[in-house]
Amino acid sequence: MNKYLILVVEDDVPIRNLITTTLKTHDYRYLIAPNGESAILEASSHNPDIILLDLGLPDVDGVEVIKKIRTWSNVPIIVISARSEDTDKIEALDAGADDYLTKPFSVEELLARLRVTQRRLSMMMPEMQNESVFQNGQLKVDYAAGCAYMNGEELHLTPIEYKLLCLLCQNAGKVLTHTFITQKIWGSSWENEIASLRVFMATLRKKLEKGGGVQYIQTHIGVGYRMMKIEE
Ligand code: CA
Repeated sequence: MNKYLILVVEDDVPIRNLITTTLKTHDYRYLIAPNGESAILEASSHNPDIILLDLGLPDVDGVEVIKKIRTWSNVPIIVISARSEDTDKIEALDAGADDYLTKPFSVEELLARLRVTQRRLSMMMPEMQNESVFQNGQLKVDYAAGCAYMNGEELHLTPIEYKLLCLLCQNAGKVLTHTFITQKIWGSSWENEIASLRVFMATLRKKLEKGGGVQYIQTHIGVGYRMMKIEE
């Protein structure tokens, strides 16, 4: 049996059945909530490991459910929504969602998002122990020393590139929105900062991917960026 317990919040029965059948086939344990109120109740009473959340619920908006759950829990929330507008994704991510899936989605895509989130959960452990070194593939960040290494060689990063890298590493596996990143780095998120962010990300990525060609930073166009977990 898979050790992960998934809370499926979805009012649309055929979609909910598709999700639960997929979960069952892949040995996940799951709970069902057909609306926002029961989602909040199930989340607080059963402590699921991951929440799959539809945004268009019959009682309350999914974004409100995220905000509510975030008042007491850091459980990973993957939004599943028919809303394909970037603003909806961004609103959900800014409210504290970890990832999103746009309807219609494939079963493979759903499973891939779950794996990303599970890797994020397993990576959160060292973080909780206040580990001072982050390791992902050939990338190593020594927070205490303030240095980053690729293939054992020190990376020459500007202070902003280093701050960006630390932020991505500390949230590895999670999609960070432009607003979230610029708030953390510059303390505000005006248009010009989002434009600067694009430039700093491009140079940071070039430095990380030089030589090896491994993609560490994934771009979500119009939304933000994510540090990918590199398979060993
Ligand atoms: Ca719905």
